[in-house]
Amino acid sequence: MIEIRSARTLDVERAIPVKSPIVSARTVSGGDYRIDGGSIFGIVPKPLWEKTYPADRQNRILQSTNCRLIQLSGQNILIDTGYGSGWPERFNSHHDLFSGCPISASLGNIGLKPTDIHHVICSHLHFDHAGGTTSLGENGQWAPTFSNAQYHFQKTEWDQATSDAVEFRGAYDSERLKPLQATGQLVLHEGDDEVLPGLTLHHTGGHTPGHQSIRVETSEGVGWYLGDICATTTHLSVNWCMAFDLELLVTRRQKIRLLGEIARSGDMVWFDHDTKFASSRIERISDHQFALAR
Ligand SMILES: [Zn+2]
Repeated sequence: MIEIRSARTLDVERAIPVKSPIVSARTVSGGDYRIDGGSIFGIVPKPLWEKTYPADRQNRILQSTNCRLIQLSGQNILIDTGYGSGWPERFNSHHDLFSGCPISASLGNIGLKPTDIHHVICSHLHFDHAGGTTSLGENGQWAPTFSNAQYHFQKTEWDQATSDAVEFRGAYDSERLKPLQATGQLVLHEGDDEVLPGLTLHHTGGHTPGHQSIRVETSEGVGWYLGDICATTTHLSVNWCMAFDLELLVTRRQKIRLLGEIARSGDMVWFDHDTKFASSRIERISDHQFALAR
């Protein structure tokens, strides 16, 4: 059973601030990992990016997965799930993955069980964002990690991730995603949409055609989980993009548009992969360059 929500364009400028008490938005780690530095910085020469992200002997750099836990009106909303567990040993050692399920452990550290999560939103369905959506059961089958949650993805992203098309092979693990379809927990959105008052999805495309960023009105101001549109503070230059970006020009254009809007309004950026700054306000330096606010 899949619920599909029709497209609806939200006007961010005119969004009405919510009065309902949004208690908090905090970082919950979905696990650190290592990945090829060139893949994270695309066309940028290594001598430039390694000043902030030094590479190891295998050219890998450390990346965090700064998932977000939003608590509002008695509901627990998780944005992205990190890489989860149950990967083959070769994949584990290639990426230096933590053992166990990091996102479940992080939630446990703040007194929450997977069953306490009401909504899971993924920016997109690559392994480091959606790996924790499901877990391997004792019967050897994949099942939702968050058994009481609705899972919110863009329909385009879901269709692509579960298509098993040759051109996406290696980008998605459809075997661990598909079980979400059988449990009636999927909510597929087509375009911009509202999950709860003050929590909206913004279809960006770019990194993947079905990528979405998430805007949240918290009691400390508005936060933007940009996903892999701007993964670290080192990506605040418009042309510093990932080699993974399927629609590179779209990423650049969305980055200019979204960062410009965020800098203008004084909102916070929540960086999903930064190892030092999970959250910061930013300022505009030039037409193509942003920086952490001083
Ligand atoms: Zn990522």
